[in-house]
Amino acid sequence: MIFQNTPEFASQLDAQDELKHLRSEFIIPQHNGKDAIYLCGNSLGLQPKATAEEIAKQMGSWASKGVEGWFDGDEPWLNYHQQLKSTLGEILGANEQEITVMNSLTVNLHLLLVSFYQPTAKKYKIIMEAGAFPSDQYALESQVRFHGFDPDDAIIEIHPRDGEYTLRTEDIIKTINDNTNELALVLFAGINYYTGQFFDMPAITQAAHAVGVYAGFDLAHTAGNVPLHLHNWEVDFACWCSYKYMNSGPGGISGIFVHEKHFGNTKLNRFAGWWGNRRDTQFKMAKGFEPERGADGWQVSTSPILLMAVHKVALDVFNKAGGMLSLRKKALLLTAYLEYLINNISSQQGQAIFKIITPTNAEKRGSQLSIICKENGKVIFNYLTENGVIGDWREPDVIRLSPVPLYNTFTDVCKTGQLLSTAAGI
Ligand SMILES: *Cc1c(COP(=O)(O)O)cnc(C)c1O
Repeated sequence: MIFQNTPEFASQLDAQDELKHLRSEFIIPQHNGKDAIYLCGNSLGLQPKATAEEIAKQMGSWASKGVEGWFDGDEPWLNYHQQLKSTLGEILGANEQEITVMNSLTVNLHLLLVSFYQPTAKKYKIIMEAGAFPSDQYALESQVRFHGFDPDDAIIEIHPRDGEYTLRTEDIIKTINDNTNELALVLFAGINYYTGQFFDMPAITQAAHAVGVYAGFDLAHTAGNVPLHLHNWEVDFACWCSYKYMNSGPGGISGIFVHEKHFGNTKLNRFAGWWGNRRDTQFKMAKGFEPERGADGWQVSTSPILLMAVHKVALDVFNKAGGMLSLRKKALLLTAYLEYLINNISSQQGQAIFKIITPTNAEKRGSQLSIICKENGKVIFNYLTENGVIGDWREPDVIRLSPVPLYNTFTDVCKTGQLLSTAAGI
């Protein structure tokens, strides 16, 4: 599409947008009495209008039924999480049995590493991307230490080549092949939180499997952002949070994926709890843990129903969008429009004021652009904020902007471009 840097062009795109009705499902934060331009869905997605009502409903069940709420009524809490699985399955490309909803993200990463990182004296190394989200770095460091290894030796970080910001798939595969003898696990983000690079998950998984190790992914910035096919890609395990692109509230509940091929694998360790026990015998309260079949067997604790209620409402909005492919179609256009506007500023000013470090190939990114400001980055960012654009700032010099197809408009993106242009001239 040939873009134009005018409000008229943007509102024309808005008028043609088949998903435009979805914005009214959300509460848009306000700035000086008007809708803010919210481009921070990569950090905390917006609140659906129906969320408060669903929480109130569950509070009502608690009030009227007390403990019987676990077993009574049309949505007994005991099985509440099962309602989330069909939409999650579509978002992630997984069977319902391969998914469960529980805990928080970093906790789930640890639990999955207990199962899928079982190093031996010879094979103990983990390959990951350099500059991964700090929580993932800390989780891996501490897991490696827990098994008696030195993180500096056991964790192999892959860096971009000199002068580049993102990783080449060929370099990832080469690192995997070069470390075959000592490798225990490949663990990557789906999309890197800083650069916005969408890694080639099937290629990474295949390369890991070719040398006999597991491939796992942290999908915090990926789930609900780009279409995924975890089952068909044969990913071994994955985890994500629900509060970024899935709009399920600050600190909202996380989820995990375990590929069906591991359901019968008794060699996988796990840190068990009663909620992961076979449902049919769970309330016999007997000695000896027997896992429920599927990802549910990784559950540990009693379901936090209020968090699940928030998640359920947010997933219902995904259903109204008609699936990830229609969301992706709009996301590609929104992001490309933002990219066009940013590049337009540099060409108007006759110099590269902004450098987008997110891949230019749309297949290799989601809804986020990470922009390095050549100078005055913080001043430019503050100008955006003062004028009602909510994005985020990542030290030392990156502005991340994330137009989300569920609630952002082309007009949001156009206004942001104009503000960036004004700020760059300051
Ligand atoms: C957002 C994010 C986290 C945050 O983890 P919590 O346990 O929810 O605090 C972890 N890892 C990645 C890759 C993230 O993007």
